Amino acid sequence: MFKLQDLKPSSNWILEDSNEFLSKKCKDVTFPLNSKDSLLVNRMVSYIDACYENRDSEFDIRAGIAVAAPQVGCDKKIIYIHFSDQYGKEHRHLLANPEIVATSVACCYLKDGEGCLSVSKDHPGHVKRFNKVRVKALDMLNDNKPVTINAEGLFAICLQHEIDHLSGILYYQRIDKKHKYLDEDKSLIVY
Ligand SMILES: [Zn+2]
Repeated sequence: MFKLQDLKPSSNWILEDSNEFLSKKCKDVTFPLNSKDSLLVNRMVSYIDACYENRDSEFDIRAGIAVAAPQVGCDKKIIYIHFSDQYGKEHRHLLANPEIVATSVACCYLKDGEGCLSVSKDHPGHVKRFNKVRVKALDMLNDNKPVTINAEGLFAICLQHEIDHLSGILYYQRIDKKHKYLDEDKSLIVY
C-alpha cells in the first residue's frame, strides 16, 4: 500500500513548461516505488489536497484540481486528481499507468479554456476533448489494484489533460492555431 505523508505544499515543487522534463515521455510504474518517486508522489497529493481544502492562498500556491508526475519531476506514469463536480460528488484518484481504452463519439471543451499548474503564460483558445473516456489504471489508493474508470465532462477532460502530460503533451499544443475558438461548432458540448 502506498503510504501517504502530509507535507506542506510549495510552489517550488511544480516545474514550469519551459523545463524540458515536461516534454518527455514517462515510464511505466513498477511497485514498490523508490524513495525519490515516493516523495514526489506525496508532493503531488499534498499539493492538490491543499487546493481541494481551499488552502492555496495559505501556502501561496496556484490552485489546481489535478497534477501529473512529470510536473513535480517524476518520470513515471502517475496522475492525481481531486475535485468535486457540479453535483458535489468528490473525485479522488491516484492512478498509475493510466490508459484511455475507450472514448465517446461526442466531443466537448471548456468554454474558458484549460489551465495548467506548469503554465503561467496565457494561451487563449479551446481544447477539443472526448466527452467521455474509459480509463484503465492501477489504483494507488487501493493496494495498486486494477481499476476501470468511466468519466464524463470535467472529469473526462481532466483525465485526458493529465494523461497527455505522461506523453509530454501540454494542453496548448492541442489548440488549433487557425481556429482557436470552437464556439461556432454546435456539435460540441460546452462546459
Ligand atoms: Zn497540466
